[in-house]
Amino acid sequence: MAMGGAQFHADEGVVACKVAGDGHQNRRDVGKMEHGCEHYRRRCKIVAPCCNQVFSCRHCHDEATALGDRHNISRQDVAKVICVLCDTKQPVSQVCISCGVNMGEYFCDICKFYDDETVKGQYHCHACGICRVGGRDNYFHCAKCGSCYAVSLRDNHQCVEDSMRQNCPICYEYLFDSLKGTRVLDCGHTMHMDCFAEMVDHNKYTCPICSKTALDMTLHWDMLDREIEATLMPQVYRYKVWVLCNDCNQVSKVGFHVIGHKCGHCSSYNTRSTSRPADSSGSSSPLMTDSSENNNL
Ligand SMILES: [Zn+2]
Ligand SMILES: [Zn+2]
Ligand SMILES: [Zn+2]
Ligand SMILES: [Zn+2]
Ligand SMILES: [Zn+2]
Ligand SMILES: [Zn+2]
Ligand SMILES: [Zn+2]
Ligand SMILES: [Zn+2]
Repeated sequence: MAMGGAQFHADEGVVACKVAGDGHQNRRDVGKMEHGCEHYRRRCKIVAPCCNQVFSCRHCHDEATALGDRHNISRQDVAKVICVLCDTKQPVSQVCISCGVNMGEYFCDICKFYDDETVKGQYHCHACGICRVGGRDNYFHCAKCGSCYAVSLRDNHQCVEDSMRQNCPICYEYLFDSLKGTRVLDCGHTMHMDCFAEMVDHNKYTCPICSKTALDMTLHWDMLDREIEATLMPQVYRYKVWVLCNDCNQVSKVGFHVIGHKCGHCSSYNTRSTSRPADSSGSSSPLMTDSSENNNL
């Protein structure tokens, strides 16, 4: 592994340069990334405006009070903070009035929010009224959905009014200011990314709110096509059934099959059996189909 050895020495050189550079560390950077809680790296604690107690952040406050006198902090109302480096209690601002450090490398004067971990790409969205992460350039505010969405979804998603101002349909946490990443499904409904992954792990591929297919199922539908083609139903089961498609909301009359029923309009297998539509003269009772293929039975 000669290559690996050479690479390692090169890396060491880089580290040495960095340490030398840190010798001239800016006063404002002292203690950066060394303090905080499980939620944020920051160099101050907040005085809760509601109960006057000191917490690392508003989540720490909300978690602590959840056990007893349950109440949530209003982030904009935080007026006083305490620098963790010099212990000075002071009005909200970025730089400590006493020791001169940045109490947060990122600071929002509206949210009274501090965070040293700027790799998260924090930005304040005025339309949302809160700080978000992920980089301002990577997100846009969708006025109809009432939240910030990834730019890849611009003109490319189903708008659902106030879609993010709901609880996650899986874990019930309020999505709008959740710290966890969210996913916009094809139908426009939203849920946590982690909750979505867990749902898919449990072989559920439909939106829990509207039952529409939540991800590209083209390959899966193709597979079902082949399976159905390869599995002839015994003659007694060869009748037609009415199905309502969860994806396009149309009804169609299809051959009964244990594997699934494909929508006659959009080819989705995300269908459920339904009663015969009122305007149809067809029969949903067992009905023999053309039996030209029964020579295999
Ligand atoms: Zn915290
Ligand atoms: Zn200080
Ligand atoms: Zn903000
Ligand atoms: Zn926004
Ligand atoms: Zn939208
Ligand atoms: Zn969730
Ligand atoms: Zn949906
Ligand atoms: Zn359909």
